[in-house]
Amino acid sequence: MADLLSQLEALATGARAAIAAAPDEKGLEELRVRFLGKKGELSQVLRGMGQLPAGERPRVGEVANRVRDEVEGLLADGKRRLETKALEAELAGAPIDVTLAGRRLLPRGHRHPITRATEDISAIFARLGYEVASGPEIELDWFNFEALNLPPDHPARDMQDTFYVEESTLRAGVKPGSVLLRTHTSPVQVRSMKRLGKAPVRIICPGRVYRSDYDQTHSPMFHQVEGLCVDEGITFADLKGTLAAFARAYFGPGTRTRFRPSYFPFTEPSAEVDVSCTICGGTGRKDGKRCGTCKETGWLEVLGAGMVHPRVLENGGIDSKRHTGFAFGMGVERMAMLRYGIDDLRLYFENDLRFLSQF
Ligand SMILES: [Zn+2]
Repeated sequence: MADLLSQLEALATGARAAIAAAPDEKGLEELRVRFLGKKGELSQVLRGMGQLPAGERPRVGEVANRVRDEVEGLLADGKRRLETKALEAELAGAPIDVTLAGRRLLPRGHRHPITRATEDISAIFARLGYEVASGPEIELDWFNFEALNLPPDHPARDMQDTFYVEESTLRAGVKPGSVLLRTHTSPVQVRSMKRLGKAPVRIICPGRVYRSDYDQTHSPMFHQVEGLCVDEGITFADLKGTLAAFARAYFGPGTRTRFRPSYFPFTEPSAEVDVSCTICGGTGRKDGKRCGTCKETGWLEVLGAGMVHPRVLENGGIDSKRHTGFAFGMGVERMAMLRYGIDDLRLYFENDLRFLSQF
C-alpha cells in the first residue's frame, strides 16, 4: 500500500511542476492526457490496486480521488492563467485601428426600387403633415368593398377580382366569401377614420395589394399608396394643391398636373391625375422623335383621386354634413417606373441582381 501511496504523491508533485510550466493550451491538454487520460499515469497507478487486500483499497482510493481533484483544479487554473496572459499581451500590443478599410470590401446591398419609391412618396406626404397608417392585407369584404360603396353586385368589383380565403380555414361564424386579400389600400381609409373616431384625418397608407391577374403589365401582387384627408371645409382645390405639390416634389420642380373627370365608387367627383411627361418634359417629342413613354401626348397618368363619397365618411363614423375630404391612390410600381425609366413590371419581382444593383 505504501508503495502505491508514494506513487500517487510522486504523480501529484510531477503534475504541479509540469502544469505550472505549460507554455500554452495545447501543452495543458497534453498534460491532462498524460496524467488523467484513460492510459494516463493515474490509471496506471490504480491498476495496481487489484493486488491490495480489500481492507486497504478504500484508503488508496481516497488518496487517488484527492490527487485527481487536485490535478483537475491545477489544469483549470492553468487555463485561466494562460487566457489572462494572452489578453494582457493583446492589450499591451499595437491598438486595432477600426478606421482602416477592410482587405476585401463586401459588396453593399441596395434597397429595392419599390422600397425606395415607397419611402420617397411617404417622406413627401410626411412633410405635408400626413401620418403613415397601415391595415391588414387579409381583409374583410366589408372594408375592401362594401364600406367603400361597392355593394356585392356592383360592376366595378369585376375589375378587382381577387383571392378569397378558403371556407375550411375560416373561424366559425365567419361568412364564406367574406375574407379576401385586399385589392387596394383603400380599406385603410375606413379603418383609419374608425380608429381616430373624429376629424381631422390625414393619413397615407403604403402597402401590398392583390388581384388575380398576371401578364406583362399586371402582377397578382403589387403596391399602392393610399391617401386620405378629412376635415371641415376641405375642397377639391385642396386636393389639387396637395397633388400638384406632391408631383413637383416627386418628379421635379417643373412638373405640371392635369385632372380629368373619372369615376370611382368611393369618391364623387372623381378624377384621373396626369403629370407632364418626365421624359420629354411634356412636349411629346424627344431628340426630334416621338416620345414613347407618353405616346407623344406629353402626359402620363399617375393616380386616381376625388372627394370622398359622403357614404364612405359615414361608414367611417365621420359626420358627412360637417366634414368633407379627399382621397387618392397610386401604384408604386408605376411611380418607380416613371422615375427610374423601368419598362417591364416583371423586372421588379425576378430578383435579378443585374437589375437590382442599379438602384
Ligand atoms: Zn413624353
